[in-house]
This record gives sequence, C-alpha cells and structure tokens, in this order.
Amino acid sequence: MIDPFGRTINYLRVSVTDRCDLRCVYCMSEDMTFLPKREILSLEELDRLLGAFIALGVRKLRLTGGEPLVRKNVMWLIERLGRHLESGTLDELTLTTNGTQLAKFARSLFAAGIRRINVSLDTLDPTLFRRITRWGDLDQVLEGIAAARLAGLEIKINTVALKGQNEDEIDDLVAWCGREDLDLSLIEVMPMGEIGSESRLDQYLPLSLVRSRLEQRWSLDETDYRSSGPARYTVVRETGKRLGFITPLTHNFCESCNRVRLTCVGRLYLCLGQEDSADLRAPLRASGDDGQLLDAIRAALRLKPKGHDFMIDRRHPGAAVPRHMSVTGG
Ligand code: SAM
Ligand code: SF4
Repeated sequence: MIDPFGRTINYLRVSVTDRCDLRCVYCMSEDMTFLPKREILSLEELDRLLGAFIALGVRKLRLTGGEPLVRKNVMWLIERLGRHLESGTLDELTLTTNGTQLAKFARSLFAAGIRRINVSLDTLDPTLFRRITRWGDLDQVLEGIAAARLAGLEIKINTVALKGQNEDEIDDLVAWCGREDLDLSLIEVMPMGEIGSESRLDQYLPLSLVRSRLEQRWSLDETDYRSSGPARYTVVRETGKRLGFITPLTHNFCESCNRVRLTCVGRLYLCLGQEDSADLRAPLRASGDDGQLLDAIRAALRLKPKGHDFMIDRRHPGAAVPRHMSVTGG
C-alpha cells in the first residue's frame, strides 16, 4: 500500500475498544462518553477486517484502545491473529496496554505469538499514579509488568510528560527502567479530544526541556536506532537502556509515516492529527466477499494527508482534533 506521497503503509494500529478501566487526565474526562456497544465491530468482523489489511501488505499490527485487555474475549482475536505470524504474512503482532490486566493475560499473550508490548506508566509514586489515572492502583500495574517479564515479553514503558505532575519523576523512571532492564519512551501531550477541567496548556511540557534536565544527570548518547515509529532514541550510557523522545509538537515526524489507524467501529483514520477518515464497516458488512472491502481500503489510502498540524499554545489551548486518543489508540 503506497499513499499519495509515496510512503509505504505497512503498519496498522487498531483500537479494539474505546473503553478503559482508567481515566488518565490527559486522555479522557472522568465522565467520558463511550461509543454505543451496538456500533462496535464484533471480534469476528475485526478478524476479517484485519485479515484484509494483511492481504494488502500490512506487516505490523498493534492492538490498542481504550484498554485492549478489557475487551471481552479479546484473547480469541489475538489467538486468531497469531495465525498470520505462523504463516509469515505478518512480521509482528503487538500491544499497547495500561498494564492493569497483564498479570492475567501475560502468558496467553506470549503463547499467541506476541513478543513485545508497550506499557504506559507515568509515575512510580502510588498517590500520583492514582491522581493521574483517577482510579488506578500502581501495584496492580507493577505486578502486571513483572508477570509480563516472567512470561518472556519484552517491555517498553511509555510515559507522558506532564507539567507540574510527573515532571520531577522522570529522572526516577529513567533510573528504574535502568534497574529493571526496560526501554523507556517519553511522550509529549497531544491536543486530542476534550478532557474536562484540566487545560492542555497546563499539562504540556516540551520534551526539549525534559531532555536538557535529564542531561544534567545522565549521558544520553545519540543512536540511529529507529523503531518503525516516530520516536528519536538515545542510549542512557549509565544504564545501557534506550530512552526515546516522541515529540509531535516540537518535531515533525510525518515524512516517514508508515501507519494508519482503525477504530473499533471500523473507521480508518489516515493520520493521528487530522480528521481524514473512511468508513470500512459498511463495505465489510455489505458482502461476505472481500472485494468491496479491499477496494474501500485502497480508496481510503488516497486520503492520507501529508502531515498533522498539532499545536498547543495560548492561542490554541484546546483540542486540535475532536476525537480522543482512546478512539484511535495513540
Ligand atoms: N490504554 C492503553 C494505554 O494506556 O497504554 C492503550 C491506549 S492509550 C490511548 C495509548 C497511549 O496514548 C498511552 O501511552 C497514553 O499514555 C497515550 N496518550 C493518551 N492520551 C494522550 C494524549 N492526549 N497525548 C499524548 N499521549 C496520550
Ligand atoms: Fe485508558 Fe490508556 Fe487513556 Fe489512560 S491513556 S485513560 S489507560 S486509554
């Protein structure tokens, strides 16, 4: 799949549910309204739809959400998708999770062929963790991470840098990831969806600032390592672990974009920061044959924009796109 700007699209991120067992303050408001259940694709439909993307050349699939592991019977889907790994039509099946359910699912995830996961963790302080997630229990997540490691999963921690909230914690997270042998990526808050009482401007902490503070204590060696994503990586010389910086607001990474995003109602978004999208549920349901669906996916790709226009400043303090990160899964 090649988009109008010549970029090869081989990575699909799928939000298997927009629901979540947490309410992180930068992601959604406490009384978030979720999509009506009747609109959500069944797991069988998702399996068929994802199979169509793989037939068209998707080599990497990331399941996300909302919280993917709270979707009922999600293991059925994950195990079904594992067959594409076995046949060699898919290179990687992976997951982004908040970690709350990992203790329960880690072994099954590994058995289904998942080898690497991203776990979101913004602080190691239990009180702050509860405040940021609104009702999360840090121990539950740490137990999940331990279970995932025991099961053989490679873990990368994702941390959203939040002004005045976890900004003094990031140093501890770097040290902890070093001790626990985990890579870490720091993420800038992106202006997606309304989040209730907190303002984006109050949350936004530029990673350029975080990096210069970290450099007072850690030696960050530049590396040309690239995951297939937008992170710029360094290696922390003292720990030997990677430290990535995902900076959509201070650095534009669109020229190398290789991905598209699917929601749990079958809408394909061509860019995280733009509204261009196409409905794939109608062609999926229109016929048991995949012809229409494959045509619809090919047509959708032509809508992929050149890049996003994210901006947070005093003139643009609100949401750049109305949908929440949980709709497309980051
Ligand atoms: N629930 C899972 C989790 O938290 O990992 C998967 C979905 S979550 C939407 C995916 C990632 O997006 C998480 O790392 C989360 O921290 C991040 N995220 C959510 N809202 C964000 C925002 N407005 N700006 C930047 N990152 C955000
Ligand atoms: Fe849930 Fe993930 Fe959003 Fe937090 S960031 S509310 S865990 S979807």
